[in-house]
Amino acid sequence: MQDDLIVSEGGCTCRHVRYRLTSAPLFVHCCHCRWCQRETGAAFALNALIESDRVELLAGEVVPVDTPSNSGKGQRIWRCPRCQVAVWSNYAGAGEAIRFVRVGTLDDPDRWPPDIHIYTSSRQPWVLLPSGTPAVPEYYRASEYWPQASLARRAASRTRPAAR
Ligand SMILES: [Zn+2]
Ligand SMILES: [Zn+2]
Repeated sequence: MQDDLIVSEGGCTCRHVRYRLTSAPLFVHCCHCRWCQRETGAAFALNALIESDRVELLAGEVVPVDTPSNSGKGQRIWRCPRCQVAVWSNYAGAGEAIRFVRVGTLDDPDRWPPDIHIYTSSRQPWVLLPSGTPAVPEYYRASEYWPQASLARRAASRTRPAAR
């Protein structure tokens, strides 16, 4: 991928928190699980997975809210301390090295459509999935779906200390 020059900015609703992604995400999940439906109050969550050190906080600060998760291991959702909008989270599985950035908080969310639909077993029936995008009933193996460049980036992120 020749998209390392791509920069996306985003933030919360009150604009206290502003952040920048310094490259394209690794992969974008559209998650149709019941947990994401409850947490968004909608039909799915849209998360751009990206190395923590490729997310720069430009303004404000984020506060962690430990939240139960489907896996039982929990997720840490980072929110604006003022308007409480969630901007990203860390899941126990991927650890602190990877952030799940809420695509809807980006200034240009149209840029990052889903690379995969997950937990489609609980997809709300009115949500119609495009035929060209992979969809799995639950979770999946990154090695089977991610581009090689993203797998290489993920491997590299595991060999250096996670950014905060
Ligand atoms: Zn805010
Ligand atoms: Zn989910």
